Amino acid sequence: MKLTVAGFLDNSMVNGEGMRSVLFLSGCKRRCKGCQNVAMQDFKYGEEATVEEILNRIKSNMPIIKGVTFSGGDPMEQAEALSKLAKDIKAEGLNIWCYTGYTYEELLEEKNKNKLELLKYIDVLVDGEFKEELMDNSPKYAGSSNQRIIRLK
Ligand code: SF4
Repeated sequence: MKLTVAGFLDNSMVNGEGMRSVLFLSGCKRRCKGCQNVAMQDFKYGEEATVEEILNRIKSNMPIIKGVTFSGGDPMEQAEALSKLAKDIKAEGLNIWCYTGYTYEELLEEKNKNKLELLKYIDVLVDGEFKEELMDNSPKYAGSSNQRIIRLK
C-alpha cells in the first residue's frame, strides 16, 4: 500500500515532544490563510512510497527517536494507508503525534472508518484549522490558539 509523501525529517525537536521523525503527507482540502505548507495542499505533490519503505526509514532513526509525527497537508486525507503504517510504528514501541485540520469532534461525528482506525493509533492529536489571527498565545507545538494538544492515550 502506498502513501503520497510531501517530505520527511529524520530528526526533529519542534514537531512534538522529544526527538521525532516527521512524515509530511500530501493533500489538504482546506485553504487556511497563512498556511505554512501551501505546496503540500496538492494531493499529487511529492513522491509515492510504500508503507514498508517509510517504516524502514523510520526504523533507521531508532533508537534516537522517541516517536513519529504525521503532518502535512492533512494526514487524515490518507487515513487508509496511514493507519497501516501507524499500526507498524506502534509495534516498534514509538509514540505518534498527528496534526490535522479536522477537530477531534468532527472526526468522531464523520464516522469515517479509515479515519477512526487511524485515530486508534494516535497518542497525541493536534487538531483544528490554522487560524492566522490566533497565532499569538498558541500552545507549544500548535500554530494557533484554537488548536488543541489532545492526549488520546
Ligand atoms: S489544515 Fe494545515 S495544511 Fe491544510 S491549509 Fe490549513 S494550515 Fe495548510
